[in-house]
Amino acid sequence: MGNVAIGGGAPCVVQSMLSVPAEDVAANLAQIARLAEAGCEIVRMAIPGRECLAAFEAVCAASPLPVVADVHFDAEIAIRAAACGAAKLRINPGNLGGREKTDAIIEAAAAAGIPMRIGVNAGSLDPELAARTDLRLAEKLAQSARDYVCYCESRGFFDIVVSAKAHDVLTTVETYRLLARDIPEVPLHIGITEAGTLFQGLVKSASGLGILLAEGIGDTIRISLTEDPLEEVRACWTLLSALDLRRRFPEIISCPTCGRCQVDLLGLAKQVEENLKALPKPIKVAVMGCVVNGPGEARDADIGVACGVGSGAIFRRGEILRKVDESDILDALMKEIGKL
Ligand code: SF4
Repeated sequence: MGNVAIGGGAPCVVQSMLSVPAEDVAANLAQIARLAEAGCEIVRMAIPGRECLAAFEAVCAASPLPVVADVHFDAEIAIRAAACGAAKLRINPGNLGGREKTDAIIEAAAAAGIPMRIGVNAGSLDPELAARTDLRLAEKLAQSARDYVCYCESRGFFDIVVSAKAHDVLTTVETYRLLARDIPEVPLHIGITEAGTLFQGLVKSASGLGILLAEGIGDTIRISLTEDPLEEVRACWTLLSALDLRRRFPEIISCPTCGRCQVDLLGLAKQVEENLKALPKPIKVAVMGCVVNGPGEARDADIGVACGVGSGAIFRRGEILRKVDESDILDALMKEIGKL
């Protein structure tokens, strides 16, 4: 979509969703700029009503990132969004009012040369499928998504990404495993929907998406949080980095501290994290509480500090460079990082 490849062996793409009012073009563009700086590669914008299409068009025209039109209930909005510069349409055929409406959207996407994401959600399954007692929820979600893919393909439309989400982690994992098995040719957008506020959302998303990504499932990712979408992007990169799938920003290796620690390591680690969070260098930086174990435990860190009594030994890849006072540790780390 746009200049971003999804599927076909391309690296897992990071996306998020705009959270400011749809009609406010300036606010949307400002949020896109912040998200792009944080490493977001695709943004999704809700178009809640036809009156928002003009704003959507203006945002698409000025956005440095490809913009997905997120449309529910009104097929006409999806059709018009395709002609307004949408880089992809995100629809849930289950709430668009029947196959004729879906046909019209497929035609609009094909005419615009853009892909569609078919997003199936546990809350909007076809009532007949939802009522079946012989299938688990994951099987229903996967079947619903497969049916829509087959339908699109029967109409000659193949530029499809699929998502099938539940807020329950294990149901989502099972659903995506079924999809990866049954329609391996279709790229998958993975996420745990409505995962919650920051702490819970991070844990739920990392546990579910971590399983999937480690199994090679997932071509685009969103970590849905009840938070500033900037945190979603940071979380996506942290997860991809933790699984060694993609690295773009520094990874902090810091110890939990124990009775040996004699500096304010929590404060230092937070300062280091804050200073490095937007640095586009995929390095590892260690912040360790004592010199006994520090350099050794963080030997694969590019730069690090192992603290002593009111001081810190700065090290590079396990080798100690010099000792500095506690108040100079941050500056010393930043200076060494700047040399990399
Ligand atoms: Fe304790 Fe030192 Fe290990 Fe930190 S690095 S947890 S201070 S032993």
